[in-house]
Amino acid sequence: MQEYFDLQAHNTFKLSARARYFCAITDVQELRDALQFARARNLPLMVLGGGSNVLFRKDYPGVIVHMTNRGIDIVAETAEAVWVRAASGESWHGFVEYCLHASLHGLENLALIPGCVGAAPIQNIGAYGVEVKELITDVEVLDAVTGVIETLTCTQCEFGYRDSIFKHNLHRRKIILSVTFRLHRSPCINLGYAALAQALSGIADPTPQQVFDAVCAIRRSKLPDPTVLGNAGSFFKNPVINREAFAKVLQDWPDLPSFPVAVDNDRNSVSNWVKVPAAWLIEKTGWKGRKFGQAGVYQQQPLVLVNHGDASAADILALAEQIMFTVAQQFGIQLELEVQWIPPRSSA
Ligand SMILES: Cc1cc2nc3c(=O)[nH]c(=O)nc-3n(C[C@H](O)[C@H](O)[C@H](O)COP(=O)(O)OP(=O)(O)OC[C@H]3O[C@@H](n4cnc5c(N)ncnc54)[C@H](O)[C@@H]3O)c2cc1C
Repeated sequence: MQEYFDLQAHNTFKLSARARYFCAITDVQELRDALQFARARNLPLMVLGGGSNVLFRKDYPGVIVHMTNRGIDIVAETAEAVWVRAASGESWHGFVEYCLHASLHGLENLALIPGCVGAAPIQNIGAYGVEVKELITDVEVLDAVTGVIETLTCTQCEFGYRDSIFKHNLHRRKIILSVTFRLHRSPCINLGYAALAQALSGIADPTPQQVFDAVCAIRRSKLPDPTVLGNAGSFFKNPVINREAFAKVLQDWPDLPSFPVAVDNDRNSVSNWVKVPAAWLIEKTGWKGRKFGQAGVYQQQPLVLVNHGDASAADILALAEQIMFTVAQQFGIQLELEVQWIPPRSSA
């Protein structure tokens, strides 16, 4: 257990913050010891993977547990599918590459997303037309209060758009130990995302390797590399609004793009909701490429806020608040955060 631990190398925003206590754990016993350590001192405990979806607003007053448990195992197989369990501390992209090389298919569109396997279910990571929930069969967790190890099925995880039960009822209650995926033996190519289809348009029957390569190339051209320019990917979610609100915005902004979405809690009609690109809204408010102190909006993708050097959390937060304010004022649409603020925005 390390005290007053500097977290700058453990968050992709490269923000300066310290954890009162920090430990890297490799197995369940070490995790149980850390929980006991926090309980004995009445301190909060949070789990950290690659730190690519968090923003440390200030020093963390409790115990940060960094998951470094490893292991990838085949747990079942049939003629069509293979069930693969990966430990939560495995690198996500490393796991995607491993599966590709083992001819286990389905994850190619999710290549190059930073972070660890254990964080993938937290926000149901998604990219290029695929969400990870489509491949997850179950998630093994340790209950932080009872210490019992349990298995949650995909349905029990209540996955949604960048959402799961781990952000709500089970927030901080369950620590993910491993995730099991059902992968396909035959290639299952998904070119539903326009930019990906376009990148591969010259190839009649693309292979999983070609899809993987194309996804990596598009991502490298559009997104800042966090090792060069601190960031946490999309800072905001794409807003999902009902058709009534959408029609209102269209009156002033007829070229507003939209995609129909199914919303689980909409009992009337699954097509009553549309998703609008937050990047478009931010660009129209004039924020694209702008700087606010050392914090900025990335030129190639305005959904991404960046740290141009020694930005503080306060700089990034002030910029985010400004963007949210101007988007709400101009379009009447409230942007929601995708990046998790630690501690949360609501607390002091
Ligand atoms: C350049 C860039 C591009 C990105 N692109 C995408 C993208 O295309 N799609 C997408 O969905 N996301 C994207 N992201 C966001 C991010 O990479 C993902 O959300 C990723 O899954 C976070 O993994 P992590 O290990 O870094 O999680 P962290 O940031 O360490 O943690 C995120 C949250 O998960 C919790 N958590 C982590 N591990 C566990 C565990 N084992 N048990 C319980 N809770 C845990 C943490 O407490 C925290 O609340 C991008 C980020 C960057 C920097």
